[in-house]
Amino acid sequence: MTTIRTTCEGCGDVELSTSDIALELTGVGEAGSYRFVCPTCSGVQIRPATPRVVSILLATGVNYEITLAAPPITEAEVDTFVSLLDEDDWMNHLTAKS
Ligand SMILES: [Zn+2]
Repeated sequence: MTTIRTTCEGCGDVELSTSDIALELTGVGEAGSYRFVCPTCSGVQIRPATPRVVSILLATGVNYEITLAAPPITEAEVDTFVSLLDEDDWMNHLTAKS
């Protein structure tokens, strides 16, 4: 079993096994982030993962998921949303079955 050393914000150095870590890749570039529950304080920690860390974690066999980064919401989309809220029947739009 591979032991992975990392740090918890509250506890400092902690040791984890590969099954304790969840790697998240955004599909943008090769960097990502990884998430783990600290074995000492049980706090959820999220750490950025450089491309090097990503390749090391993948090589040790950690679970990973790909979360595609959505483009940011534009001003125009917000304006459209707000103007739709001004209509009296917006609730019907939400509940309408098309
Ligand atoms: Zn901790």
